[in-house]
Amino acid sequence: MAVPQMTLSELRRLVGADNVLTAQEDLIPYSFDGTAALRQMPGCVVFARNTDQVAGILKLATQTKSPVVTRGSGTGLSGGSLPIPDCIVLCLAKMDRILELDRANLTLLAEAGATTQAISDAAAAAGLFYPPDPGSMKISTIGGNVSENSGGLRGLKYGITRNYVMGLEIVLAGGEVLWTGNKCVKDVAGYSVKDLFIGSEGTLGVITKVLLKLIPKPAAKKTLVATFAQMDQAAQSVSDIIAAQIIPCTLEFLDRTTIHCVEDFAKVGLPLDCEALLLMETDGHPAAVAQEAARMEEVARRNGAVEVRVAKDDDEAARLATARRSAFSALARVAPTTILEDATVPRSELAKMIRFVAGVAAKYRLRIGTFGHMGDGNLHPTFLTDERNQEEMRRVEEAFKEIFDEAIRLGGTITGEHGVGVAKKSFLPKFAGDAQMRVMRELRRALDPAGVLNPGKMFD
Ligand SMILES: Cc1cc2nc3c(=O)[nH]c(=O)nc-3n(C[C@H](O)[C@H](O)[C@H](O)COP(=O)(O)OP(=O)(O)OC[C@H]3O[C@@H](n4cnc5c(N)ncnc54)[C@H](O)[C@@H]3O)c2cc1C
Repeated sequence: MAVPQMTLSELRRLVGADNVLTAQEDLIPYSFDGTAALRQMPGCVVFARNTDQVAGILKLATQTKSPVVTRGSGTGLSGGSLPIPDCIVLCLAKMDRILELDRANLTLLAEAGATTQAISDAAAAAGLFYPPDPGSMKISTIGGNVSENSGGLRGLKYGITRNYVMGLEIVLAGGEVLWTGNKCVKDVAGYSVKDLFIGSEGTLGVITKVLLKLIPKPAAKKTLVATFAQMDQAAQSVSDIIAAQIIPCTLEFLDRTTIHCVEDFAKVGLPLDCEALLLMETDGHPAAVAQEAARMEEVARRNGAVEVRVAKDDDEAARLATARRSAFSALARVAPTTILEDATVPRSELAKMIRFVAGVAAKYRLRIGTFGHMGDGNLHPTFLTDERNQEEMRRVEEAFKEIFDEAIRLGGTITGEHGVGVAKKSFLPKFAGDAQMRVMRELRRALDPAGVLNPGKMFD
């Protein structure tokens, strides 16, 4: 059943006819997100321009029991903003204003549809720094980042989105507007309600404004790339760097398949006769940066690095960082379907997990390129496959299952940053356990008794 005409008329009254899409050709761009092999046409797409409109839409949705899938830019990698049949897609991309930059309190207030890049640029223009930098930051929205609790390349030193959220404006399922958090550095009044909504994947409420913490901009930065003939040498270098009490802002890794695809794509002059590449960045006081860079170079060489390249200037640093930032796009060019996963393990288990993924690729005769946030234990085994080949897709599914089972066995998690969505919901009960699943279900029922917010995502 399509969205009823009465509901559509009311939506048009709330946001204006221009902000409601119903034509099939207009709906197609909203029928998928960044997750491979998942597609579903929505009933309509509605663009909200302010909080009152979001409140009106959610009130109407609850009254008419119409499912609502909130969407930022649709770059999610677990199917979180994938429509469900005949739903209302509520798109916040047009609520993209930076509302305030408070230099006295080092905070920034933005609407949920502002891009991560716009927030980073606004902070930089004031000489400040917003560290979370998902690879998708040029287009991902801050509302999407908060809803997925996104990480990025600087997570090792600076943490993830959650560490920068000081307050949220949220519209609850029935249309009530809630503000949680403030500009205080310390606040322990009541439950930490804002934390409940971080990573809630559009299932508990719609985030309309985000208050973020900013920090001073690091004075200096150095970028190094080290290549290794063996994977274990790269993994050992990571362990040794951490054991030496150096916390680089970036400690990223590419395997052989990914290095070749990236070089073919970005032409940054990477050595091709190696099994692993580490991108290392340190930032902070110039003297500390120089010292840490020298120590990281020494650790890499001690572990048998074939080559260590230290960027001479910002241009070269940006080029080397491109090698990592373009990994997903580079892999996506070589096969019709690219399925990117984010199994995550304690850092001490990384080498084991990387070997396990390579073994799974061989066992199931699959092509997997692995890269990721090595300093965080967050790997992205990326399946290069073809969704039209059903027999191969069955092997991909079996391979996934083995990888997630192994991640859990090693004390890790089924997702380090991309969320559960639909892609991982079958793995969540095993990971979370009965009591945690029950608590999550009860919370969801309490906040959305009519079950209209992103139904079928995370769990049924
Ligand atoms: C090339 C590429 C690189 C990426 N790199 C990274 C990375 O380094 N780290 C990382 O963590 N992720 C990464 N991602 C995944 C993705 O970009 C993030 O999850 C991002 O935060 C999603 O933002 P979005 O605006 O596109 O959200 P969407 O995909 O539109 O939505 C994501 C989820 O959030 C919900 N949602 C969106 N906005 C709101 C809101 N205002 N209120 C309530 N719920 C909302 C949706 O319902 C959905 O469940 C990458 C993706 C791509 C394609």
